[in-house]
Amino acid sequence: MIDRIAVAQPVLSGNERKYVLDCLDTNWISSVGKYITAFEEAFASFCGVKHAIATNNGTTALHLALVAMDLKPGDEVIIPTVTYIATANAVRYCGATPVFVDVQASTMNIDPAAIEAKITSKTKGIIPVHLYGHPADMLSINAIAHKRGLWVVEDAAEAHGAEIAGHKVGSMSTCATFSFFGNKIVTTGEGGMVTTNDDELAQKLRLFRGQGMDPNRRYWFPVVGYNYRMTNIQAAIGLAQMETIETSLAARARLAGWYAEALGNLRDEIVLPKDVGSVKQVYWMYNIFLRQGDAVRRDAVMRQLSDDGIETRPVFYPMHVLPPYREDGFYPVADLWAQRGINLPTHLGLTREDIERIADSLGQALKKI
Ligand SMILES: *Cc1c(COP(=O)(O)O)cnc(C)c1O
Repeated sequence: MIDRIAVAQPVLSGNERKYVLDCLDTNWISSVGKYITAFEEAFASFCGVKHAIATNNGTTALHLALVAMDLKPGDEVIIPTVTYIATANAVRYCGATPVFVDVQASTMNIDPAAIEAKITSKTKGIIPVHLYGHPADMLSINAIAHKRGLWVVEDAAEAHGAEIAGHKVGSMSTCATFSFFGNKIVTTGEGGMVTTNDDELAQKLRLFRGQGMDPNRRYWFPVVGYNYRMTNIQAAIGLAQMETIETSLAARARLAGWYAEALGNLRDEIVLPKDVGSVKQVYWMYNIFLRQGDAVRRDAVMRQLSDDGIETRPVFYPMHVLPPYREDGFYPVADLWAQRGINLPTHLGLTREDIERIADSLGQALKKI
């Protein structure tokens, strides 16, 4: 039996164990403790922002950010139709409506040229998503937002460390959110973060994260808040992950280089990921597209890889085809390319031989299917 290659897996090779044991040994296991502050500070400094507010997952980070933006029932928020469903759900939790925009074929990120047509008098903001680790075109998006008086909240859940012209994602909008789920670039098991440069907004985020309790008057609640706090144990893992982030990002870049080499001779059959604009992408998932066929062919290729012991994932379904958000809008790029995309295994446990085995299996599958 050959080893199965997982599509993603966490790497906990630094001080994770030591810091978690420290939490247990000192009894600081809940949502107060030195690791929370240390993790928030390390993360803020990594992103080049003034504030980072830790939460219990990436979805609550998004919801918290939208609460802090005062999003209300009846409001509209522009999001890409290709994303993980949490982006749309967070808007819906506020009683607001996510309005979908088509994506760019080159990156699967929101197409800035298609945004303005979707802005109405109810539109309050835009949530660009840095999908699979490739930064969205923040320059164009921020220009539109500025012109139309909208806020921008980056959903950076999949792109820790990605950059545009030397600026890290998470630092290029009103505020930004991250996820630390087990398969993300930085993990705390479950966890999330909101980043911002705005002092007042940071205070508001902390207030709403902690059930709305007045920081200067215990058990006095001026607002209806949430319990979205992270535990010291999660933060202990997060801090250890931040200590090794530069080496993990370098390892991801090396992995992408191996893929580009191993898949180079399949370029007539597949599109490989590339950097569009002056960006540094971080390859949360090494995502390829078949040049021909539909989802039936793509799924057959994925089945073949699975038979060879290689786990893959299809690109996310567009939001506009999912039952809670179904609509018949015109999203030609999303409709076509979401059927042709495959996430190949992308994690730090992979060797060059694994990548060659994956490329081999994919080459065989494309010949047959
Ligand atoms: C993972 C993810 C989230 C949500 O994060 P959780 O920690 O799983 O709640 C939000 N948006 C995107 C784009 C994601 O990939």
